[in-house]
Amino acid sequence: PTSLSQRLRTVKPSPTIAITRLAAELRRSGADIIALSQGEPDFDTPDHIKAAAKKAIDDGVTKYTDVDGTPELKRAIVQKFKRENSLEYETTSISVGTGGKQVIFNAFTATLDEGDEVIIPAPYWVSYPDMVLLTGGVPVIVACGEDCGFKLTAAALESAITERTKWLVLNSPSNPTGAGYSARELKAIAEVLLRHPRVLVLTDDMYEHIRYDGWDFSTIAAVEPRLRERVLTCNGVSKAYAMTGWRIGYAGGPAELIKAMATIQSQSTTNPSSVSQAAAVAALTGPLDFLAERNVVFQERRDLCLSAFNSTDGLTCRTPDGAFYLFPSCAGVIGKRQPNGNLIESDVGFATYLLESVGVAVVPGSAFGLGPYFRISFATSTERLQAACARIGDACSSLR
Ligand code: PLP
Repeated sequence: PTSLSQRLRTVKPSPTIAITRLAAELRRSGADIIALSQGEPDFDTPDHIKAAAKKAIDDGVTKYTDVDGTPELKRAIVQKFKRENSLEYETTSISVGTGGKQVIFNAFTATLDEGDEVIIPAPYWVSYPDMVLLTGGVPVIVACGEDCGFKLTAAALESAITERTKWLVLNSPSNPTGAGYSARELKAIAEVLLRHPRVLVLTDDMYEHIRYDGWDFSTIAAVEPRLRERVLTCNGVSKAYAMTGWRIGYAGGPAELIKAMATIQSQSTTNPSSVSQAAAVAALTGPLDFLAERNVVFQERRDLCLSAFNSTDGLTCRTPDGAFYLFPSCAGVIGKRQPNGNLIESDVGFATYLLESVGVAVVPGSAFGLGPYFRISFATSTERLQAACARIGDACSSLR
């Protein structure tokens, strides 16, 4: 329709949501669908967090709050950064928004002028490029193949930086690959950034707490303190605390940027839900032992799917360090024929084949900027994962 803005025409709706919707439609029409497409823990929000929210409602914590977070929540976030990341922030350097998504959107809105470039390593979380386009910037996609562990190297970063580069986006552990940067790898990236003082860094640490095999999480502002004044360290409660529906995300960063982000929020959504903020205080100040317990369960599921995929003809899969996704290569099935004679030409074709032939919803890797791969989320029950892996195996062995 011609009433839509020029800017909106460059943006596509989230492909993960599109696949999930198609799977839901098929399910409504009676098909037996296993959806491995959504990035959401199947665990429930822990009880002590729910209790804090109920108490907040009963205590009348139901009014507007400070725009970018209550003082209590900001203090809890300052403590979190200190305790878990050795990062010292003042409360004036903290921003709270309606999910990590809003915080990142605010940061781009506050800083990007028409034509400013944002370096996004691929495969990437689907929202980064579209958020950049929506806020007037230019996404500069840097392919980070499996040979580099799906990670940005110092050399690749160096050659992507131009005079228009405003931001580098890092996401570790990554959605969709689960690849995590070591402190040494971040240090190498930091060395490049020190030579380019105008480039800001947005690090999205949303999956910090979901990690495996003793992999050690690091974040760039802690690894290289000289970058501190230009790093926005983004995080949230959605994934670690199984609180996706509560919509609380936060960031620590330079006070001037944080203030600008608050201005944007004050003219768009105002504060995030007062009740959710109270719940987030309980999450960040409460017990953390459930995280390790849940990671054990996630790791078992990861291993189950890994061994299934790695013994399926046509698929291979790297072992992720964290998050709850696998990103298998389906290069070995491209060019094969389905039982109905149709050719599998791409990962999109393969994902469609899986959904239509065996009722398993996965997201094609090209949605994340790298094919031929596909992403599954293993944040679902072991039983369903076993069934899904068996179905994917059947689908692959039916190809000729
Ligand atoms: N960053 C990454 C890498 C994600 O995968 C997600 C959610 O899917 C988010 C940020 C946003 O999380 P939320 O807006 O729920 O805090």
